[in-house]
Amino acid sequence: MTSPYESQQDITHFINGAPQAATSGRSQAVYNPTTGAVARQVQLASIEDVNAAVASAKAAFPAWGDAPPLRRARVMFKFLELLNLNKDSIAAMITAEHGKVFTDAQGEVARGIDIVEFACGAPQLLKGDFTDQVSTGMDNWTLRQPLGVVAGVTPFNFPFMVPMWMVPMAIATGNAFILKPSERDPSVSLFVADLLAQAGLPKGIFTVLQGDKLAVDGLLNHPDVKALSFVGSTPIAQYIYETGARNGKRVQALGGAKNHMVVMPDANIEQAVDGLIGAAYGSAGERCMAISVAVLVGDVADKIIPKLAERARTLKIKNGMELDAEMGPIVTREARDRIENYIGTGVEEGATLVVDGRGHKVKGYENGFFTGGTLFDHVTPSMRIYKEEIFGPVLSCVRVKDFAEAVDLVNEHEFGNGVACYTSDGNVAREFSRRIQVGMVGINVPIPVPMAWHGFGGWKKSLFGDMHAYGEEGVRFYTKQKSIMQRWPASIGKGAEFAMPQSK
Ligand code: NAD
Repeated sequence: MTSPYESQQDITHFINGAPQAATSGRSQAVYNPTTGAVARQVQLASIEDVNAAVASAKAAFPAWGDAPPLRRARVMFKFLELLNLNKDSIAAMITAEHGKVFTDAQGEVARGIDIVEFACGAPQLLKGDFTDQVSTGMDNWTLRQPLGVVAGVTPFNFPFMVPMWMVPMAIATGNAFILKPSERDPSVSLFVADLLAQAGLPKGIFTVLQGDKLAVDGLLNHPDVKALSFVGSTPIAQYIYETGARNGKRVQALGGAKNHMVVMPDANIEQAVDGLIGAAYGSAGERCMAISVAVLVGDVADKIIPKLAERARTLKIKNGMELDAEMGPIVTREARDRIENYIGTGVEEGATLVVDGRGHKVKGYENGFFTGGTLFDHVTPSMRIYKEEIFGPVLSCVRVKDFAEAVDLVNEHEFGNGVACYTSDGNVAREFSRRIQVGMVGINVPIPVPMAWHGFGGWKKSLFGDMHAYGEEGVRFYTKQKSIMQRWPASIGKGAEFAMPQSK
């Protein structure tokens, strides 16, 4: 198959096992952020397309949901093999539409593949609990059954990895899954659909519905969609959670972030600088686990800021396909302008602009959506650049006097996705991990994205719902528990029982 990102053809849906054009007549431009040119168009769903997608998923579900988990796992194993054969093509596709550097895209693909490997263990993951003899002659067991048609709505910043938080978990547990990918970089979704079909997945079990709010609302309001997983910004996450819950759906909605890294005076300064630079400017700061605030404790600031400034000024900002590139462009012109406007706001608010990334040009790509790395010092908690998610390569440094002030600062922030603490003191590390009100914590680990079998999720306004993505929480999210009690005629006594039955 030709890689979709090399083609100028419209990006369509994938419904009932085949690409399908939208019936709406609406479409939206997909850009190459490195050159700034329109690469192709993505067609946007009409409500009829939503209904067709759900109908084909609903028709396919009963047989798949009833298939032995081992058979579903074998499709996952084949999918895994195909992903490994095509992983660099997927990474190049990500760079072409998102802009992140190719080596980072390779990492994204690898972390997505981890979840597919985990889902290959479906037979083990779906094993129930059994109690022999809960009462004389009676047994009780619990099993987990799939929900039916479930949907996922995903953000632009991980066009492969975030769908993989959902797709393998939902499918391996027996559901029919509808993916509504981001309109900004939708090509990967069709490539994944093709690989799943090659892996032997029955028609209708994986659907791609391209679209915007209309498609999302169609899924949220459709009575046959039983659950919705969302990853994206906080206002939309909250809207999805509230609307889905009102419509009786199970919802997990992961939102935005403002991740802090606390640097203690006893930290290894060189390691802390490396950690901050990679986590603040990697993927141009367009990661929900990016570090956007450095909390510098005691006398750390004066030691660390000159080093951060030097590194931020000399970032290798290039076309992401150049293998030594450290940072590529921002996903769209609008996003780049929003980030640069925030830098202006920070200056107006009185923060010290140590490195100004605005207006950065890359030779040969003058129309690309580039900005440079930006560094602020003396940022305070009342500033908008501290409170709001900028989602770009802007690092704000806040100076605090001690550990307690650092913990309070982090805990008072409305977001609680990821956090890191650099220290050499085991007790500080332990206290930090226990007291911090954040879902994912790194001790000397700047971006602590949990591995496939641990599950991913923030706290506070970074996650609406009860269950984290993937891992065993993912298995629980995509299945419902059933308890069965059983006895046979030889164990049944005579007469009706009017009292609450007890173990006898
Ligand atoms: P976004 O919220 O704009 O879009 C996410 C998805 O929602 C897209 O598929 C989009 O089509 C859809 N959408 C947008 N507006 C909608 C509306 N009004 N109604 C219904 N659906 C709508 O997010 P984005 O810009 O694509 O991604 C960046 C955001 O995602 C950042 O806030 C980032 O922190 C967050 N994010 C969070 C996590 C996490 O795990 N918590 C992971 C990745 C990204």
